[in-house]
Amino acid sequence: MSLLVVGSVALDSIYTPFGETADALGGSAVYFSVAGSLLNPVKVVGVIGQDYPVKELEQLAARGIDWSGVERATGESFRWKGKYSYDLQSRETLETRLGVFATFDPKLPESHRDAEYVFLGNIDPELQLGVLSQMRAPKLIACDTMNYWIQGKRPQLMELLARVDILMVNDTEARELSGDWNIHRAARWILARGPKRVVIKQGEHGALLMEPDRTFYVPAFPLEEVFDPTGAGDAFAGGFMGYLARSRQTSPDSMRRAMVYGSTMGSFAVAGFGVKGFDAIDLGDVLARVQMFADFTHVPLAERIE
Ligand code: AMP
Repeated sequence: MSLLVVGSVALDSIYTPFGETADALGGSAVYFSVAGSLLNPVKVVGVIGQDYPVKELEQLAARGIDWSGVERATGESFRWKGKYSYDLQSRETLETRLGVFATFDPKLPESHRDAEYVFLGNIDPELQLGVLSQMRAPKLIACDTMNYWIQGKRPQLMELLARVDILMVNDTEARELSGDWNIHRAARWILARGPKRVVIKQGEHGALLMEPDRTFYVPAFPLEEVFDPTGAGDAFAGGFMGYLARSRQTSPDSMRRAMVYGSTMGSFAVAGFGVKGFDAIDLGDVLARVQMFADFTHVPLAERIE
């Protein structure tokens, strides 16, 4: 099944208490595709400038990532600089340089318009709507957004919500979008605006899947070493959508399994700087970690209370 992601292809400079990187491969589409391609080939739509290390992207193509939909524009690539607090709980954006991303207007190559599984990474909701208008018959559409669009492009975002199957956001974004501090009520508010499902990511506290009639929760994988939380949410989305595309499913139970694949990919993302956490990971490692999730979340209920 074909899986498409539209999002940022960035050069990230990240500072954590454990070290720093400069101009490392990053961006929502990169994290998504590096994680998702462990399960299903991924086609990427994005934009890079003339300064982007194209060779590094091409090396990743061997994992099953198709970069042919990434436009090469004249100018500087999108750059993002962020710094984490000592406990990695909060992050400050030091700099965002949009470069060629400022005038990005995604044009899907003919070969990408038939994709069945689509993830609209965090870009202007007008552009996300523009991508949807170029697609033929997507089977499942998920999207992300951020505070900037929630504040600045609310009407367009609401129009988008009515057209997607799943909104995947973090808890702060869900609160801001709904105006409600309680994430369960916030998710309910979002469900009433169109999406059939809402996924709310809560970092080290796991992720919630809310559907109209039931709720599912997946913890984060218990890790003793965390180096860089950047991109965990996009890697989660890559695992979630990659699993659904691979299994060719959209059933309620497959959504629960997809949550576990999402959380698994999030755990690989945070274990190294940038996308390095995925360097030595193959499908066997993913499946082993998914099995561990099944084990450590299993509750062996007694038939009756003794
Ligand atoms: P996350 O940790 O899930 O928030 O994702 C971090 C990634 O988002 C980094 O790789 C950044 O390059 C990218 N990013 C940061 N700001 C933006 C933005 N305004 N638009 C698109 N991507 C962004």
